[in-house]
Amino acid sequence: MSIDFKALAKQYGTPLFVYDFDYMTKQYNELKDAFSGVKSLIAYAVKANSNLSVISHFGKLGSGADCVSIGEVQRALSAGIDNYKIIFSGVGKRDDEIKDALEANILMLNLESEAEMRHVESVAKREGKVARISIRVNPNVDPKTHPYISTGLHENKFGVEIDMAKRMYIYAKNSKWLDPVGIHFHIGSQLTELSPIKEAVEIIANLVRSLKAINIDIRFFDVGGGLGVVYDKESLINTYEYAETIKEATKDLDVTIVCEPGRFLTANGGWLITSVLYEKVNGDKRFVIVDAAMNDLIRPSLYKAYHKVELLDNENTKESLKADIVGPICESGDWLAKDLLLPPTKSGDLIVIHSAGAYGFTMASNYNTRGRAAEVACEGGKCRKIRDRENFEDQIRLEKAYL
Ligand SMILES: *Cc1c(COP(=O)(O)O)cnc(C)c1O
Repeated sequence: MSIDFKALAKQYGTPLFVYDFDYMTKQYNELKDAFSGVKSLIAYAVKANSNLSVISHFGKLGSGADCVSIGEVQRALSAGIDNYKIIFSGVGKRDDEIKDALEANILMLNLESEAEMRHVESVAKREGKVARISIRVNPNVDPKTHPYISTGLHENKFGVEIDMAKRMYIYAKNSKWLDPVGIHFHIGSQLTELSPIKEAVEIIANLVRSLKAINIDIRFFDVGGGLGVVYDKESLINTYEYAETIKEATKDLDVTIVCEPGRFLTANGGWLITSVLYEKVNGDKRFVIVDAAMNDLIRPSLYKAYHKVELLDNENTKESLKADIVGPICESGDWLAKDLLLPPTKSGDLIVIHSAGAYGFTMASNYNTRGRAAEVACEGGKCRKIRDRENFEDQIRLEKAYL
């Protein structure tokens, strides 16, 4: 669908996140269909975009949720995701988070260390509940992505080595309070090559075979998320080849394939709309200062990530010159695009930042006491607000009483 960004900016103000729910549906169905013929569960990685309406949208399509905090579990439940489709992952969980997850009776807790397993066991025992668990195995393969979003090497903090995983499974199998039902890996994000995934899937499938041989019956084979998207000119993993690779490697195992995409489902279904405030020139450097900033979209500052930037309806035919798009925050790292060719802009011109549907709003902060942006969802030709713009009162609510 073509979205009238200008009308939305006028109605809701800027900076503004706009999402295309039809695009998200298409991405979900493409992946779900790729897994046809086998038992599968798509568990949307809530951290990519955790707006309740976004989660609920995926829930209605049949999606589960991959959560990395109890807050995300609560979001998933509030958005109507079935408890038996919720996975609680993450390298560190507090005992009270474990307790709440057990009470919610979610599908499984995904464990990343022996120490964590002992905690889960003791909380389960105290609560008189059996904890369904999976173990995140670190297959030590190089995902060939940005080092900050690579997670599947031993040098990363995630998961446990194969030998440790085996010991943990045997321990869990013998515990009255633990039920080892799943296995999990997630080697990184923004993956654009299939070969590391194939390598990891085969390593983990072999581990499942050796576990089945000792009567540890793994039923959920969780391949994590990480499918890359186009920000610039990336070539992508073909979704069908991806699913086929996984099906092929697990065809002798009676397992449900769990897949946890975040970015793939939402990144290119979201835009950040911002208004030009003014331009300035320092020496020979041109800056276009806009009303969105690193607190709204931190990916450029944090990862030097590229986002396509488009100037809307600029009738200026003068020559385009290089400019940096920067926000008003007091940090030199506060930029959204660098060395972009742009014609002269004027105050109020609209700039659209593409691929902002994942790790955009969820990584936003109140730095510089800036309220977080409003969010709008478009579906079937109609757009509606799904989050109010944060105002000053919202920001000081938890401090006011102590003044
Ligand atoms: C972040 C994360 C995901 C989602 O990653 P994407 O790159 O957004 O697909 C999936 N699973 C786990 C465990 C994660 O931490």
